[in-house]
Order: sequence, then C-alpha cells, then structure tokens
Amino acid sequence: MEQTVEQKLQALFDLQSIHTQIDKIRQIRGELPVEVADLEDDVVRLETRIQKIKTALDDLEDAIVTRKNTMKDAAAAIKKYEAQLNEVKNNREYEAISKEIEIAGLDIQVSEKKIKEFTYEITVKTEEYEKELADLDGRKKDLEGKKAELDVITAETQKDEEDLTKKATKAETQIEERLLFAYNRLRGNAKNGLAVVTIQRDSCSGCFNQIPPQRQSDIRQRKKIIVCEHCGRILVDEEFAGIQQTA
Ligand SMILES: [Zn+2]
Repeated sequence: MEQTVEQKLQALFDLQSIHTQIDKIRQIRGELPVEVADLEDDVVRLETRIQKIKTALDDLEDAIVTRKNTMKDAAAAIKKYEAQLNEVKNNREYEAISKEIEIAGLDIQVSEKKIKEFTYEITVKTEEYEKELADLDGRKKDLEGKKAELDVITAETQKDEEDLTKKATKAETQIEERLLFAYNRLRGNAKNGLAVVTIQRDSCSGCFNQIPPQRQSDIRQRKKIIVCEHCGRILVDEEFAGIQQTA
C-alpha cells in the first residue's frame, strides 16, 4: 500500500518521538556506566600496583635476611681465623690469615650498609603501600556507591527502555527503507539525536536557522519531504508536535 507524504512524515515523526524518549532515559543514566567502568579499571590498576609493592617489600625483607646470614658467617669466620692466628708458624701465614680477617670484616661492613639501605627502602615503600591501600579503599567505596546508584536507575528505566525499543522497531516497519536509511544517518550525525524536527518560531528546531516563508509554506502543505537547508534534518510543521502530544 502506498503511503501519502503526510503519512510518511507522520511515521518519521513518530519514530523520532520514540527515539527522543529513549535518549532522555539514557541521559538520566548519563555518565554513570562510564564512571563505574572507570572506577573498576582504577581498582584493578591499584590492586596490581599494591601487589607489586608487596613483592618488592618481600624481596627487601629476604635481602636483609641474606645479609644478616652473611654477617653471621663472616663473624664466625673471623673467630675461626683469630684462633688460627695463635698457632701461625711464620710471618707469611700470619699475613694471609690477617688478610682473610680483613676481607670478612669488610663483608660485615658492606652488609651493614646494605641493611641500612634496605631498611630505609622498606620505610619508603611501606608508606607508599599504605597510601595506595587507602586509595584503593576509597575507590572501592566510590565504586560501590556508583554501582548502587546505577542499579537503582537501571531498574527504574530498563522496562521503559525495552518497551520503547520494541515500539521503535515496530515504528520502523512503517517507514520505507530509503527514508529509514536517511533518518538513521541524520540521527547518527546529529549531536542531539534529532533527524526529524519541527518549525519553531520560523526556524529549524534542529539547528535554529531561519526558514524562508515560502519554504515554511511548502512544509505545511505536506506534499513532499523537505529538509533544512542548513542542517539537512527533515522538517515538519508545528502541528505534528501537537498531534503527538495528544496521542
Ligand atoms: Zn536545520
């Protein structure tokens, strides 16, 4: 069955009205889904960083234990060498053992220095660790709050959105393919999601540019599909808005 231009315009206008309602619902939900996703990313990132710091701290503790063992071994060696010194038979032997004692003594000094360094690093990293933990705690609380907020809004709007989406699918069947394609492209390109707009105060309500009187009169005739010269949106007269509101 062949539609009149007026019927085509009405079908386009109806589809636009449904889509505008869906857009409003999504606006209410707004940035929340993105905020929740961002916070989830933050939590994962912080947990990874905290795990890294924890590993570094464990490594430092291990390194201190190793150094302490080195010191113990060196101290034991010194004791042993000192006992040997009492039994040396010649000067060369004495010097050789003295050298060993000196080396073991240096080992102890180096280890002491390293332990000091590691202990300082542990203090710094522990501070960092606690700061990140507190940060993680904060992010987790934010995430919980935003998630709860999103859940409430989703529960409130999901049914409406589903119903409207079904309505839109049905409304689309009333529009010929070529027009629907043009509509979808216009809607996709428009920031405000409007592909079909009314005349408002002698202007296009999509881009707010003036519409010449002759063109307005042509639009009101509803004899052909007329688009805005400036933004390309499909124009309908004010009456359509009225019809929609009472429907
Ligand atoms: Zn326009």
